Amino acid sequence: MGKIKKIGVLTSGGDAPGMNAAIRGVTRTAIYYGLEVVGIRHGYHGMINNHFVDLKAHSVSDILARGGTILKTARSKEFMEPEGRKQAYENLKAAGIDAVVVIGGDGSLTGARVFCDEYYDIPFVGIPGTIDNDIYGTDYTIGYDTALNTVVEAVDKIRDTAGSHNRLFFIEVMGRDAGFIALSSGIACGAEAIMIPEVHGQVSNLKNYLEKGFKRKKSSNIIIVAEGDESGGAFAIAESVKDDFSDYDVRVSVLGHIQRGGTPSARDRVTASKLGFAAVEALMDDQKSVMVGYHNNEIDQVPFRKVIKLKKAVNPEQINMVEILSI
Ligand code: ATP
Repeated sequence: MGKIKKIGVLTSGGDAPGMNAAIRGVTRTAIYYGLEVVGIRHGYHGMINNHFVDLKAHSVSDILARGGTILKTARSKEFMEPEGRKQAYENLKAAGIDAVVVIGGDGSLTGARVFCDEYYDIPFVGIPGTIDNDIYGTDYTIGYDTALNTVVEAVDKIRDTAGSHNRLFFIEVMGRDAGFIALSSGIACGAEAIMIPEVHGQVSNLKNYLEKGFKRKKSSNIIIVAEGDESGGAFAIAESVKDDFSDYDVRVSVLGHIQRGGTPSARDRVTASKLGFAAVEALMDDQKSVMVGYHNNEIDQVPFRKVIKLKKAVNPEQINMVEILSI
């Protein structure tokens, strides 16, 4: 410790509820330890374009409970190119920023790793921030719990109307190419089936399952579909089954961006605060190119190399469980 005097913090990629709590955790921890803090607005785009703003302890007052990110977020094509990263490096150096905390998803952490492989003297530490929960090396990502609760609340409401009209509902949820939100919300809402990218060939199973449900005269069926599922999403699946189940009134609901918003859940606030704190401590312990994560209720440090290379797996047995529990 001792070398770092000024740290930068940014949010990058998709926004997620709880990112503000992480920014607050990083800022206040760094200030407590006598470091200066610079907020880098608009992610890597802001790093390339000098969108730097000094953060004091009071700059992060009253943000813990707010969704979104006060630093704004962005996706930056320029940062994917060596010239863009060179410009970012020169800007960090000119601003006297010695170390950076990146809060974002796997793309943002990949960018951090690429940068650190090129420029050794500015260490980066990552914090997993994405509603998708698809980052290897951490049980939870910031925003996932809030998004999940938003989905559960919406699906419960849809269930009320589905049951009243004998409807077969296909509900599409976010998650990019991962099925964590779909799987957990399916369990929490008693979905009749879920469709996720990690499992292939589910459409024929779904038809068999719906056939059985129809014979048992189920009054409603809720099918949760992950946006990245191979079937092409909720509208595509609904189209492919509706002729076979003409007695059901088939409906589709795409939950969309409500899943990203809202005040962060208690769990996300706690996780984000702890990870913000841990990220600064990691930098002060001379760590670099690591993500701080949450594993078995402990804070862990995982090298970017592993985070990027390895894929976090869903437990496919839980899909069978969803079907068993909905008989
Ligand atoms: P989410 O999971 O919520 O979408 P994310 O962090 O995965 O978030 P991405 O759009 O994949 O979002 O990545 C964010 C940014 O990280 C990109 O716009 C780009 O600037 C940077 N980035 C991603 N991959 C690389 C790479 N291979 N090299 C350099 N920079 C990268």
